[in-house]
Amino acid sequence: ATPAATMVGTTLGAQNGVLFKGGDVLERAKDVDTVVFDKTGTLTKGEMELTDVVVFNGDGQPVADGGDPATDGGQLTAQERLSKDDVLRLAATAESGSEHPLARAIVNGARERGIDVTDLNNFENVPGHGIEATVGDDEVLVGNRKLLRDNGIDPSPAQETMERLENEGKTAMLVAYEDELVGVVADADTIKEGAKDAVSQLQERGVDVMMITGDNERTARAVAEQVGIDPENVHAEVLPEDKSDAVEAIQDGGRKAMMVGDGVNDAPALAVAYVGTAIGSGTDVAIEAADVTLMRDDPLDVVKAIRISDATLAKIK
Ligand code: ADP
Ligand code: MG
Repeated sequence: ATPAATMVGTTLGAQNGVLFKGGDVLERAKDVDTVVFDKTGTLTKGEMELTDVVVFNGDGQPVADGGDPATDGGQLTAQERLSKDDVLRLAATAESGSEHPLARAIVNGARERGIDVTDLNNFENVPGHGIEATVGDDEVLVGNRKLLRDNGIDPSPAQETMERLENEGKTAMLVAYEDELVGVVADADTIKEGAKDAVSQLQERGVDVMMITGDNERTARAVAEQVGIDPENVHAEVLPEDKSDAVEAIQDGGRKAMMVGDGVNDAPALAVAYVGTAIGSGTDVAIEAADVTLMRDDPLDVVKAIRISDATLAKIK
């Protein structure tokens, strides 16, 4: 594009909250044939809320509530003694060391229910899987199936409960206490208002829309369905460090992909994409790695970015 056209496009973008990092980005955006959205914080608000707490007894069957720890003490296994509030207290205390949105929702949910969140003695983050903590003198794990398996705990008794919650689009996390599965907690996120329209407008343009997430397959597909993304185009359970490889794999066939993300762990994926786009309240790291920054938190501005690129280059012809 001529310097004048670049100026027009850049200015038009800025007026619409779409910041292009230079003229060549402005030119590239119109050629994007695939848009890959990160899920959490990009298609969804990333404002998680605690929605479910399920207790498991010794048979691995979910129960409405465990026994009364005061009267049962000593007679029963840990699983049988724990009440719903106990499970939530253990999970929230363990998560109080984490900044992850999933963790913050669990801690806030416990506090809102008047549950004391103290006594965290040790804490370790296991990226993409969960956390390992010491609450009082006891070991508590909160995380996905792999976290439990890696610690020698079988998550399968909770499979039915996990599937039910995941099919609702929730992120379900297993809670283990002293090497026993004791419960499941679930967080739900809200889909951003413009997400569905953004997906359909991109598809109308002939752009393939995909989703990438560290979340599990079932939750990811439930969210994809709600925004109109083909389940075939969902890449789930992608570890933070593998996101850029996933984008490279998508581009291997010659696709020109725009990656749209918000988080720290999206930065490498933004960097390898044909166009990297940081959205809204995104972290500084993501913004730095991106070619385009969307100032507002609106997925519809992804479509706007491509349209501005189109319009700018049409003008100079
Ligand atoms: P996303 O790509 O959605 O930001 P992450 O890669 O951070 O997801 O996490 C992937 C999965 O690992 C989560 O869906 C959850 O099951 C588990 N996980 C990560 N952090 C935590 C945590 N602090 N507590 C419990 N589970 C966690
Ligand atoms: Mg994210």
